[in-house]
This record gives sequence, structure tokens and C-alpha cells, in this order.
Amino acid sequence: MSADTTPLVLVVDDDPTNVVLLSHILKKSGYRVGQANSGRACLEYLQGNSPDLIVLDIRMPEMDGFEVCRRLKANEKTASIPVMFLTAEGRSDENIEAGFGAGAIDFITKPFSRVDVLARIQLVLRQRALQESYKELAHKDPLTGLNNRRRLYERLTEIMSEADRYERVVSLAMIDLDWFKEVNDTHGHDFGDQVLIGFAQLLETQCRLEDVTCRFGGEEFLVVMPNTSIELAASCAERLRIAWEQTTLQSPQGDEIRVTASFGVACSLPGESATDGDNVVRRADRAMYAAKNRGRNRVIRADHVPADFLDPSRSEEAGEPGS
Ligand SMILES: [Mg+2]
Repeated sequence: MSADTTPLVLVVDDDPTNVVLLSHILKKSGYRVGQANSGRACLEYLQGNSPDLIVLDIRMPEMDGFEVCRRLKANEKTASIPVMFLTAEGRSDENIEAGFGAGAIDFITKPFSRVDVLARIQLVLRQRALQESYKELAHKDPLTGLNNRRRLYERLTEIMSEADRYERVVSLAMIDLDWFKEVNDTHGHDFGDQVLIGFAQLLETQCRLEDVTCRFGGEEFLVVMPNTSIELAASCAERLRIAWEQTTLQSPQGDEIRVTASFGVACSLPGESATDGDNVVRRADRAMYAAKNRGRNRVIRADHVPADFLDPSRSEEAGEPGS
């Protein structure tokens, strides 16, 4: 995603005069503008850019605006981008029906007035910004800003399904901070929150761009590593473990505190598909318990956990994961 938060509007029209005019109006009002002179050019533009709004001419040779809009709405990646139609034929019932039917949000009639165009565009962009912020709220853990568990499962399903299709593997690291209850009891919950935020920041800086990081619950975190073998995942986890072990946090009493973490790493198996994400999570979880069991602050691979290792989530003796 671009760091620039200025809304990006894509103008699509086969008439260059219209493109220039609309671009000029939008740029003068502070928007970023993308341009395309055909339906095909619009679809190509969208492969490398994600505009916040598309202003789309209806009458274009080869592929008309209705067809472009239908294709955008049929594609998961572009379906949520609002489309406003540009029409020279006035607001005929026929056009309006076809336009809304194709998924458009509004119409601009040519020749257009600057004030009218800007007012409509502003309204759509404001609605879009609200929707995006709701989406963000629904997907993020409020304390750490990482994905929440619900979003994690959505992404995991997508990643598992892609891996299945291209015969790739997916690895997971389940991570639990060691002795976290004691940290809270000794230094207070505000400091506990700082520890969670600190670990989340470490994940954000150390994990690769394609990895999906999540706060799974309490002091449990999960990293999904697409297209990654268990060997590579285990060495990534080991790198994280060492970096975290060396991270010092200042307690309210001014003490330098270090907290460690236990890691369980698991990998998808041949034949596992979109619906099997939960199984991989369970294997990573079991390996994490084994890491706790062997003394904490270590990485254990699921394929190295003995078959007779008790599943501690069903065992009283093994204790809580958060210890
Ligand atoms: Mg045209």
C-alpha cells in the first residue's frame, strides 16, 4: 500500500480532452490522478495500482464502460473500488439501469460542471474512507495493530487455497511469551501491554512482507509464512527468538526487563487445502507446548514432537500456555 494517503482517482475515457479536463479539475483539488484511454488500459492500470475511485466513460470502442465495470466487480481485488460513470447521453432510464446493474455508484453527465463533479467525488471518497476504517477496525487487534484472529483465519484460508493450487507449502509459527502472567503480576498490566506492543513491533520489523502476523489471543501470536518450508520457517523463528531475547524493555520501576518466547513451527502437508488451516494451527500449537515443556525460550518443529507427547490443552498437568 502506498504511504501517500491522498485519494487516487483513475479517469478512464477514450476522449483525451475529457481526460485532460477532469484530471486538471481533480489535481487542482489535491487528488492524485491516474489516466487510461480505454477499457483495456484501465484493467492494465489496476494490476499495479489501487485507486480509491474510478471515473469511467460509458461509450468507448472495443470494451465499453459497462463491460469494464462488470469485470471490476467480478474480480475480488477490484470489486470494492467505487465506479462513477461518465455519460454524454444524459441520464436516460436505460443507461441508469444498466449502470447501476453493472455496479456503478453514481453518474456524471457530460458536459459536466466542476462544482458538481467535485461534490459527487468528494461524497463517494468520504464514504469509501469510512468503509475502509470500519474494515480496519474489524480486522485489527486494537492494542498491537496486528491482524486479529478472525482476520488471520480469513487470510490463512486464502493462502492455503493458493498453496494448494500451486503445490506450495505454508508454514506457521505459534508464539507464546514466557512467564507473561508473572510479568503482569510483578510490573503491572500497563507494562504487560508495553511488552505485547514491543513484541508486535518486533514481528512487524523482522517478518517478511508476504508473512501475515497476528495477535492470536492474550500473549499468543501467530505468523503465517506462505511458500515457506518448515526448515526455513524454523530458522526465521529462531531469528525472531534471538532478537526478542535481546530486546530490553524498561519497567515502571526503571529496571531493564527481558522477556522470552516459546515457538512452535508447523507446515502444511501434501493434500491439505483451504479448509485445513486449522489443522496446521493445531500442530504449531502442539509444538509450542512442547517448547514450553522443554524449558521455554526455544523453537520446536511440529515434525520433531514425539507422537506420544501429551496434548497439554487436554492435560491438567501441563499447565497454562501463558506460563
Ligand atoms: Mg467515449
